[in-house]
Amino acid sequence: LDKLTGGFRKTADRLGDNITGLTSKAALDTSTLDDIEEALIASDIGPEASKRIRDAIAARRFEQLDERGLRTILAEEMEAILAPVAKPLDIWGFPRPHVILVIGVNGSGKTTTIGKLGAWLKEQDYGVMLAAGDTFRAAAIEQLRIWGERIDAPVISGKEGGDAAGIVFDGVKQATATGIDCLIVDTAGRLQNKTHLMDELAKVRRVLGRLNTEAPHDVLLVLDATTGQNALNQIEVFRNLAGVTGLIMTKLDGTARGGVLVAAAEKYKLPIHAIGVGEGVNDLRPFDPRAVARAIAG
Ligand code: GDP
Repeated sequence: LDKLTGGFRKTADRLGDNITGLTSKAALDTSTLDDIEEALIASDIGPEASKRIRDAIAARRFEQLDERGLRTILAEEMEAILAPVAKPLDIWGFPRPHVILVIGVNGSGKTTTIGKLGAWLKEQDYGVMLAAGDTFRAAAIEQLRIWGERIDAPVISGKEGGDAAGIVFDGVKQATATGIDCLIVDTAGRLQNKTHLMDELAKVRRVLGRLNTEAPHDVLLVLDATTGQNALNQIEVFRNLAGVTGLIMTKLDGTARGGVLVAAAEKYKLPIHAIGVGEGVNDLRPFDPRAVARAIAG
């Protein structure tokens, strides 16, 4: 069993529990369709996507549908929701360096994702540099340094409590001087003080804009799938706060809440670039909508 399918096992099991018995009737009547919609909502797929899937099933007017058949339809309909937002991260093009701001609440998997993303880019022969813009936590700076060593990428950092915009300034300067293709910037994730966080991100953006008018090229929001509905709230907050350009959802290994990916795709339509299926360096996967839809449907 590959790690992706294995990672979604619990999600598929929960969906399976929720749809059990819904297909025993000969035809899918309105009440069965309602039950299917509820089962999808109970599987973290969200009201918008669940309604859309219900309507799509209704439109097909099945005379008969066994559980296997229902899972197949669910996989197809989820793929239809996921496919339009699946976009591989693309750092091609000039001017260099391509700058990626990585945002998200503490604990969502930001630092780990930066390490994995750096490794993925390095495998494609891109030069990568990391910038420790989360200056509020000494542990975050240290953790980024460790990832830098692990993937053999230089890390720009300052001292705890330092100025994030200054780190980013140094990062762009050094990346430019040394011909680095991609600068990945870690940022603070304390939502407790939104005004401060917003000011800080705005300052980082101003500094970047002065150095390189296209930067930041990407603003990636990292979300922890295990938080379910909370992950959706974070999209809502950060979208307004930071101008998110794309999502990476982490910790999809071993959670029963993987359906939240479908909910996010339908509700926000933001590009999903990759998913995290483990803590290891190779556990960031490009987002494959068909594989993920099938894994969720079981
Ligand atoms: P940050 O505070 O947002 O920078 O989060 P970290 O990168 O420190 O991650 C928090 C915890 O989640 C760490 O223990 C990571 O190893 C773990 N983690 C991150 N991504 C994944 C993932 O895709 N799967 C699993 N199982 N754990 C992850």
